[in-house]
Amino acid sequence: MPTIIEPFKIKVVEPIHMTTSEQREEILRAASFNLFLVRARDVVIDLLTDSGTGAMSAEQWAGIMRADESYAGADSYYRFESTMCEITGMPHILPTHQGRASERILFELIGGEGKVVPNNAHFDTTRANTEHSGAKALDLPIPEAGEMSSEHPFKGNMNIAALRKTFEEVGAERIPVVLVTITNNSGGGQPVSLENLREVRAICDEFGVPFFLDACRFAENAWFIKQREAGQQDRSAKDIAREMFDLADGALISAKKDGIVNIGGVLLMRDKSMFQHASNLLILTEGFVTYGGLAGRDLEAMAQGFEEVLREDYLNYRIRSTAYLGNKLLDAGVRILEPPGGHAIYIDASSFCPHIPREQFPGQAVVCGLYRVGGIRACEIGSVMFASAGSPPPALELVRLAIPRRVYTQSHIDYVAESIVELHEKRDSLLGMRIIEEPPALRHFTAKFEEIS
Ligand SMILES: *Cc1c(COP(=O)(O)O)cnc(C)c1O
Repeated sequence: MPTIIEPFKIKVVEPIHMTTSEQREEILRAASFNLFLVRARDVVIDLLTDSGTGAMSAEQWAGIMRADESYAGADSYYRFESTMCEITGMPHILPTHQGRASERILFELIGGEGKVVPNNAHFDTTRANTEHSGAKALDLPIPEAGEMSSEHPFKGNMNIAALRKTFEEVGAERIPVVLVTITNNSGGGQPVSLENLREVRAICDEFGVPFFLDACRFAENAWFIKQREAGQQDRSAKDIAREMFDLADGALISAKKDGIVNIGGVLLMRDKSMFQHASNLLILTEGFVTYGGLAGRDLEAMAQGFEEVLREDYLNYRIRSTAYLGNKLLDAGVRILEPPGGHAIYIDASSFCPHIPREQFPGQAVVCGLYRVGGIRACEIGSVMFASAGSPPPALELVRLAIPRRVYTQSHIDYVAESIVELHEKRDSLLGMRIIEEPPALRHFTAKFEEIS
């Protein structure tokens, strides 16, 4: 059977508020051409992020009703802890309100002035928390990660030669941890192979440095390994995920991704003394160790979500439906980052509108065009997000279409593909943009634009 169906039925629906293109023109202008300033109800298909936007299952909602809201020692905490322990094998598990709270605690413990933290590619909040502690965040991707089209099955891999060189040049005493992000969010949702994780483990052992995973999309990474890595086809995604965690000394997780919840995070580790210090910091700002800034119902929803995300019919649907969108765009001649990643498709905005120079934000022009054509909200990942006065533009000018989990059906995705293809056909009419107002930092959230005619 060539068609892979969504492995769920719909029990509760949320209406989509439809808009006309005249209305969207007005909304776009009122928001100064910045989609972060558009109200969600004015968006037809929202692909801004896959974080916290997933649909929960009937079992997750049932767990929310069953949850134990006791301050200390709630049943919901023990269910959460035993699920996370079964999936990861980690002995010490702390709930946090989201991924960045786990990051803040970890880097408050092991970061600091003069330290260097290597990663295949830091996610923006991971970088910010590392650097907030005074440490330097160092990205060590493989060269293929910077290529638009590459056949490499594991473009998310850490550059092992560069990691070794960093240890030799910086010295192990200044490297408090090596992080690997699975899948590599900043690098296009590309997976990391087991072989690569084993190599990182070996280097960390050689230099006596702990190895942590930034494991927000661990289940998607495990599925890619099952599909692509030699000798892994007959193993379950759960078994592969367990081996990934077995190679590490700890992990940071935002449950808003593969936990399929709207809020939540986890901090996991093997070292008992580090756990005691982390618990103290958690109590200081997040909450007691058995709830970590969440309600008991959030812990129930997380426990159930982490179990569901490893089901193979779900993972097959998830990865295939992202690739489905990517392949439709490729067939229509739209350049995307290849191969398609796990949680998102990235359009190459430079080739989409070669007539718009980078100083005029081709990615932002595509984002505004997609909203005009179909009411679709995508995210610019290029010069608006990463360049600012004095800093160079990033290597690639991309527009990310992040796919929320279990939210949109195949016809929604067909509609997205048709809208993009329609915009691509009239791309010569897209106009460059200029920024007329911007804040001092993280300008993509609030900057105001105008079109250059
Ligand atoms: C989302 C994300 C984070 C941060 O998690 P939040 O829940 O948004 O705080 C960290 N690392 C990666 C790879 C992520 O995708």
